[in-house]
Amino acid sequence: MYCSNCGKEMLSGAEICTNCGFQARTGNKYCSNCGEPIQEGQAMCIRCGNSLVMVHGRQAGGKLGSVPKDQRVLCGILSLLLTLGIQNFILGETKQGILHILLVGISIFFMLFGDAAWIDWMYVLGQIIVFGNAIWSIIEGIRILTGTYTVKPNAWFNC
Ligand SMILES: [Zn+2]
Ligand SMILES: [Zn+2]
Repeated sequence: MYCSNCGKEMLSGAEICTNCGFQARTGNKYCSNCGEPIQEGQAMCIRCGNSLVMVHGRQAGGKLGSVPKDQRVLCGILSLLLTLGIQNFILGETKQGILHILLVGISIFFMLFGDAAWIDWMYVLGQIIVFGNAIWSIIEGIRILTGTYTVKPNAWFNC
């Protein structure tokens, strides 16, 4: 592992660089995986393919867009239990998070309104939407937990 601020080699697992004092993977000047200097806005290391996308101010690491190991359990559980796309906001997939919330919101509205106004097709449509959204979210959760999910920050739909 390399310091992403000064490029010096670090002990793997070290949280602080002994050379410059930066927290591991928080800089954006060097690849934390191979130490290659990086340009501003570069998404992937041209030497080793490490993801340089910043998640919570840290280089995500691993293959491009994969979920960092320390976020897999939290994001996976959020995705399986709540189907509101909270995990997407954590992972920087804002559009997909918004879509999850919209789908849940629309389905609740359809079910409540359909039920109150005796509009059967509306009630059924609400159920279909909430069911579809849950399936989508469960697939996401399983893929996040197993490390096969690819983070796509600009996608509306990803699973
Ligand atoms: Zn350093
Ligand atoms: Zn690299």
